[in-house]
Amino acid sequence: MSDTNTNTDTNTSEDDTDGSLNASDVGSSADAPPIAEKPYKIIFEANKCFGAGRCAEVADNWEMDITSGLANPKSFFIGEDELDENIRAAEVCPAKKDAGVIHVVDRRTDEEVAPDPNGDGSLSVDW
Ligand code: SF4
Repeated sequence: MSDTNTNTDTNTSEDDTDGSLNASDVGSSADAPPIAEKPYKIIFEANKCFGAGRCAEVADNWEMDITSGLANPKSFFIGEDELDENIRAAEVCPAKKDAGVIHVVDRRTDEEVAPDPNGDGSLSVDW
């Protein structure tokens, strides 16, 4: 009764036929740390940041670039211990009429944790 069926789960479901962007389409490069280590990632609409600096006030992961005057995350991949501060940064960011340009995404579910203005975990970037 040996089962030699090697099921290679390639997860090729592509249901983004409506043109919406999945979080997994962004910033998941080959050098990303394992999900178990860093379950969350930051997607940053840097082109919409206007340098208000609120993120850097509430989160160590965010700093202001003196040259550009805009924000930068120190790390795009974060663990549970860094989650709260990055959620705070996402929620206080006033860009895009308060919708925010810092997006915290759960890599396990591919859902936006914050700011999640749509309330459904969909990625709220508008590139
Ligand atoms: S709070 Fe938003 S707009 Fe302000 S510096 Fe940070 S990312 Fe940019």
